[in-house]
Amino acid sequence: MTKIKDYCYNCSRDTNCSVLAKEKNSIRNYSSGVESYDLLSILRCDGCDTLFVRRDLYDSTDIGTSEDYLFWDAQTFHWPSNPKFNFNEEHFLLAPKDDENLNKIKSIMQQVCIAISNEIHTLAAIGIRAIVEATYDALNLGNLRNLEKKIDALGEAGLITKIERETLHLLRLVGNSAAHEVWTPSYQDITNLYKVAQRLVEKSLLDKFIQINLAEKAKLAADRIGKK
Ligand SMILES: [Zn+2]
Repeated sequence: MTKIKDYCYNCSRDTNCSVLAKEKNSIRNYSSGVESYDLLSILRCDGCDTLFVRRDLYDSTDIGTSEDYLFWDAQTFHWPSNPKFNFNEEHFLLAPKDDENLNKIKSIMQQVCIAISNEIHTLAAIGIRAIVEATYDALNLGNLRNLEKKIDALGEAGLITKIERETLHLLRLVGNSAAHEVWTPSYQDITNLYKVAQRLVEKSLLDKFIQINLAEKAKLAADRIGKK
């Protein structure tokens, strides 16, 4: 039986799954030369025996020669769908409400969570890229233009670990025009990448507000003790 790795919503992780059935539906639009495949599979998680349906939608574009097709990323959908990926507001609660940079980053993070919930992983990855760039810009670390150098600068500033730095470099593959370099992140990939970006935002921009809040409370408490 064919095995593939997929995200099991019951185990909440990527697991080995058995492909119980597979059906391919091919549609060709002769006038535009665009061909699409709809690949439906019934999968069973080897860990917990949960059954689910996976749909991969492939789109190809004829780039000139008859045998040379540029394959786009497959868009993957599941039924039942993966759990909703919710934005965690907690860290933003103590941050000033009128900080333009923070509001922009928060808005992108919310959009990324919506994209992940709807299994639009390539779009989510582009959003995560924007979170990293906006965080870099908010930190005033210098006027670097490309993402590769920005990620390295965040690493050198001690704001991301060596492994997080290597992980974030994956983002550069998203949106790359060369077909063979296009990378389609899985649910697990995209949620892990989001968590790295979220940690970066918390550590570099938000944690200080938690500390300021605690310091103010400590000062008030000390003043009260002093008055007694
Ligand atoms: Zn499972």
